[in-house]
Amino acid sequence: MVAGATYDALLRDAAVALTSAGIDNVRFEARLLLARAAGLSVEQLIARGGDPVPAATATVLRELTARRVRREPMAYILGEREFWGLPFKVSPAVLVPRPDSETLIETALALLPDRTRPLRLLDLGAGSGCLLLTLLREYPEATGVGVDASEAALAVARENAEALGVASRAQLVAGDWRRPDWTERLAGPFDLVVSNPPYIESRVIDGLMPEVARHEPRLALDGGADGLDAYRLIAAAAPRLIVPGGWLLVEGGEGQATDISGIFSAAGLSPKPPRKDLAGVERVVPAKH
Ligand code: GLN
Repeated sequence: MVAGATYDALLRDAAVALTSAGIDNVRFEARLLLARAAGLSVEQLIARGGDPVPAATATVLRELTARRVRREPMAYILGEREFWGLPFKVSPAVLVPRPDSETLIETALALLPDRTRPLRLLDLGAGSGCLLLTLLREYPEATGVGVDASEAALAVARENAEALGVASRAQLVAGDWRRPDWTERLAGPFDLVVSNPPYIESRVIDGLMPEVARHEPRLALDGGADGLDAYRLIAAAAPRLIVPGGWLLVEGGEGQATDISGIFSAAGLSPKPPRKDLAGVERVVPAKH
């Protein structure tokens, strides 16, 4: 990339680099990276395609492109990802919010249609806060607790709570369900408990796409030998965390819904038919207490 090259030329160079790294959608991503490097909107970039690029912009673009070539997720490079139409700050301390997880929000809204209820919510493994904070936006009278084992993740969630205007209704606290006393400091019981826990079988993680395997937090992915460890721990605590008649809604991986339902039944909850995501995968298991 020669100083004085045009935006269009730099865009092409970045796209070529991304292609050689095995990335799809390279024009789209290259444009987002150049827009970030230049501090311009994508629309402005298109209008200025033939203009020369300042040397500093070219340098920043090279750095951003190199990160993406190492298969760092776009969301970490840009520092943000949209979820349920809301902007969430993300860092490598948190799982990147995925559209699949919006299925859990849809399920909650379908099961608890009265938006004016002062629900008490609990999000186990809150990460960026995308589930809890979205629910707090959808239920303006609700209050919620988000638990995470990672202080770095909690810091991201707190920033998102502020930015989304729900910080006064969100309590973000450290907690680790792998410890026996983890529920002691949670002031329940709750009307709705949600979780997108780690659910990938330990041995398959290294074979996942590099964005996930090399860059996303293991803590948010690794569900143990059969991928179901977190559901067992959550199920064991759920009856004391959830009010009678309240709901537990969890995300699961492809093919896990039957096993998750079995774990919930064994713990004394009443699992309901799983809800599918847009790809037709049974993504969310609801269970009633
Ligand atoms: N949905 C993520 C993936 O398939 C996994 C997230 C999780 O384990 N909760 O990469």
